[in-house]
Amino acid sequence: MRGKAVVVGYWRDVKYSVHVLLGAAEKHELLKEADFYLVPLDNLLNTVNELKVKYSRIAYIQTLLTTDLLTKHRKITEINKKLRDLGVVSIAGGPHATGDPFGTVISLGFKYAFLGEAEDALPQIIELGFNERDPSSVTGVFYLDSGKFVFRGRGFTSDLDKYPPFSPRLGLFNPIEITRGCLHSCSFCQVSYIHTVRTRHRSVENITFWCRYLLNRKIKDLRFITPDALSYRDPGTGQSFVELLTELNNLRRLGGRVYFGTFPSEIRPERIDREVARFLKTHVDNERVNIGAQSGSDELLKKIKRGHSSEDVLNALEALRSAGLTAEVDYIIGLPDETLEDKQLTIEHMRKVISMGGKIRIHYFIPLPGTPYALRNPSEVPQWLRIELMKLIGSGKARGNWLSQERAVRELLRLRGEGVILLTSDRARSVLSGSSRNA
Ligand code: SF4
Repeated sequence: MRGKAVVVGYWRDVKYSVHVLLGAAEKHELLKEADFYLVPLDNLLNTVNELKVKYSRIAYIQTLLTTDLLTKHRKITEINKKLRDLGVVSIAGGPHATGDPFGTVISLGFKYAFLGEAEDALPQIIELGFNERDPSSVTGVFYLDSGKFVFRGRGFTSDLDKYPPFSPRLGLFNPIEITRGCLHSCSFCQVSYIHTVRTRHRSVENITFWCRYLLNRKIKDLRFITPDALSYRDPGTGQSFVELLTELNNLRRLGGRVYFGTFPSEIRPERIDREVARFLKTHVDNERVNIGAQSGSDELLKKIKRGHSSEDVLNALEALRSAGLTAEVDYIIGLPDETLEDKQLTIEHMRKVISMGGKIRIHYFIPLPGTPYALRNPSEVPQWLRIELMKLIGSGKARGNWLSQERAVRELLRLRGEGVILLTSDRARSVLSGSSRNA
């Protein structure tokens, strides 16, 4: 018996991150050193047991979103307990592990949490999983050593071009990430806190290379991931954005369909003026773009550090309309500190957007670990607002899963209360010392 296997938990919500990780594994030539298995959580233990016959070393790697805990935390905890008994090392990364490493290690039972971005550190992470490396030598790793927490900084990928945006060898594709990190640090959003405010951009050459690669694989729809589609490289002048879209436009002649400023990469409203809107209209295939408004209240926009006004959203809509484009505008209901007046202003803003031909997408505030709002609770959504929102959805002018998100947040708050999510080190220590599960 010989050889090594890496078992990766794989499901819909984490698949893009897994593809990116596998792209980095390919770049580091790790696929030659170990076999990678992508496995749904329900099959994970069976798979490990089967692989144990064939491989001398097995590691379990998991990328996790906080919302995954809603349906998976018990299963994950059970898996980690059994893997410990089998001598298999488990490592979690991704937004949840970065935002709540204490809960990841103590409550979910991973041996290591990896904080930040994993591409550069991937060879060391895999060695750690095979028990071939001292954890104190790996930047980004968090663990317990003789009852003490050890932090080893955060992983940071400085050059996106170094890695493919997905896994070409395994044929696992996803939208191409063109920018990572965000300058804006909105209080509710994990992007600036996990990926930092140091923005990094894939080069135009690299983006078009991978777009051509997709076209050669008969994948015609070209989609992109970025925190702000118009902030590509030099948001001040917009020159690089023009250069990028000009190159992408050339790919449309080869049959490519370019989707830009649409899901999963929205546009900040203050970036859109008539000139930009006209340029977009002639260079992309989407008729609609997504704009982040979040609230109709300027006071609240200031509190959540959005860095734009409610008026900016209406101006963007007007510019898009003049170019023949429409917009879907995102709002978050239940933000902390949202007063009744803020809520009223938001509903009025939504009505204005609809009167200008826009559509509405409604989200509910989620207190995400790692953000300034991690320990905040949502503000109450009064009955009159619920009725207004349901009317908008019923009329087809708005959509959004805010009600199921509201239910999910209730459950996340319960997990926080139970210590499955351990947002402060005091609470983590308290649980560790066994004093209380509800510390
Ligand atoms: S909400 Fe958008 S603009 Fe704000 S920090 Fe997140 S990615 Fe950046």
